[in-house]
Formats: sequence, structure tokens, C-alpha cells
Amino acid sequence: MKFISNNSRILLGAVVGVAIGLLMAAHKDAAATHTGIYLAELLGGLFVDMLKMVMIPLVFTSIVVGIANLSAHQQIKRVWVITLLYSLTTMSLSVAIGVGAANLFAPGKGLNLAMFHEAMHGANSVQMSLAEFVAKFLHSLFVNPFAALAQGNVMAIVVFSLFMGVALVLGGDRYRNILALLQELFELSLRIVGWIMVIAPLGIMALLAKLIATQDTALLTTLLKFILVIFGTTLFHGLLVLPLLLYAVTGMSPLRFFRGAREALVTAFATSSSSATMPLTLRCTEQHLHVSPSITGFVVPLGAHLNMDGTALYEAAAALFVANLAGIELNLLQQLMVCATAMVSSIGAPGIPSAGMVTMAMVLQAVGLPIEAIAILLPIDRPLDTIRTVVNVEGDMIGCLVVQKLA
Ligand code: ASP
Repeated sequence: MKFISNNSRILLGAVVGVAIGLLMAAHKDAAATHTGIYLAELLGGLFVDMLKMVMIPLVFTSIVVGIANLSAHQQIKRVWVITLLYSLTTMSLSVAIGVGAANLFAPGKGLNLAMFHEAMHGANSVQMSLAEFVAKFLHSLFVNPFAALAQGNVMAIVVFSLFMGVALVLGGDRYRNILALLQELFELSLRIVGWIMVIAPLGIMALLAKLIATQDTALLTTLLKFILVIFGTTLFHGLLVLPLLLYAVTGMSPLRFFRGAREALVTAFATSSSSATMPLTLRCTEQHLHVSPSITGFVVPLGAHLNMDGTALYEAAAALFVANLAGIELNLLQQLMVCATAMVSSIGAPGIPSAGMVTMAMVLQAVGLPIEAIAILLPIDRPLDTIRTVVNVEGDMIGCLVVQKLA
């Protein structure tokens, strides 16, 4: 199928996956559907496994090499500052949009917690205060690098790679062999990503088919208004706010951006994991959007963990939704508290499916909302996670372009 580009094959995979998923959902009890779900789970799982396999060497080498190259051009400080400022700005915008829309449309008004008694029964969500959360997050940063590499602990790998990168640069010429070795390891990992891309359309098809075939449609309909508010606001942020910011800073047209970013965005949608998508995020930003490897190598792995506009927006809006369900009116100060904790907890959330749900407990707790309500959100999280992961990844890619322009 050489005459079809990889981008188009991925889109085709997504469309066919949705169609198969709908077909299986319509024939839930058929034997073929059971086999279909099994195969989709296997194929989709293998695709994600392969991405995760190459992600770890890629994160390590891309950060070390990225820092070394940036320092060689004395750009490192500006890149740091602009990356942080960019993340704070876009995440503040996203929580403001989430809270604004939740106030405007008041999803959850008219429903109440008691209606979900059964769903909440037996829910055991983790309770954690803001202070505990921050302490846990800080402790998780400094870990034996071999354990972190072996366990796929991305944040700890990022931190260790930052140290290694700086040490390599300060060590200077003496370590040029190690730097060359890591550079080559990085290039080899990207080559493997290229191979994984060949089966990406199949993997994406399988992931989407399974996602759609296994949805609880009754709960989705009850919570339709909430789901629509989340979809609408996340798309508003991803299709309007971020592209406008990109255009204002770099002059790049949104169309050109989306064309270059497509592979990574569709993969983010299908996998619901910024971490698993990271190899493709790196590939698209470097090869299609032409950001320098030293900037992508630094900004993408960091952003995949820290910069999560979609998650921050979701957590803020979901907290207001839960307040409505519980019949609690949050005042302005409490809403600001929701915004702040939503930002902190999305920074702390790893880039894996439904990670935002785990850190959500902290946002609810910060303003005294019932944590058990997470049990209502969990069953509908998989479809919501698709779009917010896309916006998380989009934010990282636009971040690279903005940093490249301003640094
Ligand atoms: N799945 C999201 C991500 O990987 C995190 C979340 O659950 O919000 O970016």
C-alpha cells in the first residue's frame, strides 16, 4: 500500500476501527463479537507495548542529547523559562475555560448523588491532601535510575536524564564518546519508532474498536450533558485557543500544524496515553513540524508529564459537576481553589490512561466534595480520556514550536 501515505493509513485505521466497534456494540452477545474484542485487545495491547518499549530509551537519550546540544548553543536557560511560562499560561487558560463552562451550563444540576448509589457502592478512592500529594510527587522525582528505567517510571527518568545532561555538558570534551553513543542510541530508537509506525494503523483500529464495543451506553446517556460540556470545552481549547496562540506566536497556520501533528494526535486519541504516544510526538515535531531535535528532545518528554491542558480542564470542570450532584454551591474562592488544585494535580498525573481520575481525588478533597463521586466518573472516563489526551499531546507539540520561536 505504498501509494497511501502513513498519515492517511492511520486515519483509515481509525475510521475502520470505529465502524467495527459500532458493529460489535450492536451485536454484543454474538460469538464473533467476543472473538473480535479478544483480538482487538490483543492487537491494540501489542501496539501500546511496542510504543512503551521504545519510549524509555527514547526519553533518556533525547533529554540528555537535547540538553547537551542546547547548552552548546547557550539556549538552555531560555528554553527552561519559556517552557514553564508556556505551560502555566496554557494550563491557566484551560482551567478557566473548564470552570467557566461548568458555571455556564451547570452539568449535573437536576441529577443527584443518591441516583448513583449503586455505582458508588464499594468505591475505594484514595484520599490524599494537597500537602501529602506534593510530598509524594517530590519523593517520586529522585529514584534509582536503574529501577526507574526498569519500571518505566518516566518522571524519574526525566529527572535523572536532566542531571546526566548537565553533568555531560559541564564535563565537556572529555565525555564526547558517551555523548556520541547516546546520540546514536537516540537515532536507533527513532528508527524503531519508524518500524512501529507500519503497524500503527492496525493498532489504532484495534484500540478504537475495543473502546467503542465495550462502552456502558446507559450511563453515558444519563451523563450526556456533562460529557458534551467536557468534549465541547476540550475541543474549544484544542481547536481554537491553542492554535490561535500558535498562530500569534509563530505565524504557523493551524491547518499546517494539524497536518504535521496528525499521526501523534490520532495515536493519543486511541491510546489515551501521552507517555505511550511520546515516540510519535517526538517524530512528528521533528520530522513534520521541523522543530530542532534539541528542543523537542527536551520539551516533549517534560511536557508529556507536566503539561496537561486537557487533564487540568477536565479535573476543574468535573469538580464543579460533582458539586452540582452533591447540591453544594462553590463560592468564588473555592472555585479558584479548584482551578489551582486541578493544575497541580494534572502536573502530577502521569501520562497513562485515566491518570487524571486518580489525582482527581485531591481536587475534590481540597474543597470538601465527596470523593466517592469518582465512582460515577470512572466508568465514563475512557471516552473522555481520548480527547483530553489529544489536547495534552497537542499542547506539548505547540509548546515545542513556541519555544523554538521564542528561545
Ligand atoms: N490519559 C492522560 C494522558 O496520558 C492523562 C489523564 O488521565 O488525564 O495524557
